[in-house]
Amino acid sequence: MPETHKKILGVIGDPISHSISPAMHNAALKALKLDADFEYQAFHVKPRDLKNFLDTMRDKGYAGINVTVPHKVAVMEYLDEVTKFAKLIGAVNTIKNEDGKLVGYNTDGPGFLEAIKHKLNFDPAGKSVVLLGAGGAARAVGMILAENQAAQIVIFDIDEQKTGVLAQQITSNFKTKVICLPSKNNELADCIADCNLLVNATPIGMHPREKESPLGNSGLLPPRQDTTTPLYVYDLVYVPKDTLLVQQARSAGAIAVSGLSMLVYQGALAFTIFTGLPAPVGVMEQAAENAIK
Ligand code: NAP
Repeated sequence: MPETHKKILGVIGDPISHSISPAMHNAALKALKLDADFEYQAFHVKPRDLKNFLDTMRDKGYAGINVTVPHKVAVMEYLDEVTKFAKLIGAVNTIKNEDGKLVGYNTDGPGFLEAIKHKLNFDPAGKSVVLLGAGGAARAVGMILAENQAAQIVIFDIDEQKTGVLAQQITSNFKTKVICLPSKNNELADCIADCNLLVNATPIGMHPREKESPLGNSGLLPPRQDTTTPLYVYDLVYVPKDTLLVQQARSAGAIAVSGLSMLVYQGALAFTIFTGLPAPVGVMEQAAENAIK
């Protein structure tokens, strides 16, 4: 890497070439006229090189790093401090270098919360949610919904063991009622019919499987009888922009968006952690949209 006088920000992952974080963050730095001081780069870091990279981050004084697949959990053991919420989620996606002390944060959960607030005008307090998937992203979503007083979360994952683990993690920290649906179960349609918010946190529907929906084609989204309580749908998948699930949901009269806004808000929250400044969210969103075209 060429020597630079700028403070280094970046993202690590394996692979990393697809990441749209550099486009988002560099656009934000430019918009705030910080691009003479900071530069945001993508670093391809293999799991075996993770510790070395963090040593380099300390030695060379990189200012901040975002963390993506597959390092979000593994990175935690190399940090000096991890926030309470990141510990609760069990994953770190943002590291700030505070004078040689590496502090880990998680902005995925808060990014999801901002996304449903801004894009769906949805407040989870007292609401009933169906959460498809119980992997890493679902953990961030489940925890932030419970922290924000969701009344009930129904979790459905094809891996029942993961469903049980996530349910236990939520109920041991929050008052939210959690129901685990067995993977071979025909109650999912009834649960969706009764809920306020449906979240897809599985990879189903993501390019190149854009012809698939986590609900299949089986009519699990019948039009609502009670139109005064609409169904909101948030699909974490963001490539393609309008997933099959989002299209199915809109056809059934639901208010539905896909996941680019969560990516933008987790980035915006990380930007504020790195720079101490409010992020230019609109600029980051435009850069993200351009980058996935
Ligand atoms: P993950 O850890 O692999 O978890 C996905 C979970 O969904 C797995 O437990 C998987 O089970 C389960 N699953 C697969 N097919 C299913 C189905 N038909 N019904 C129910 N459960 C099913 O993946 P992740 O990291 O959580 O990511 C999930 C998705 O969210 C990905 O598409 C990712 O790109 C997206 N994401 C978006 C954002 C954003 O900012 N918008 C952020 C993070 C993640 P098996 O392991 O048994 O297959």
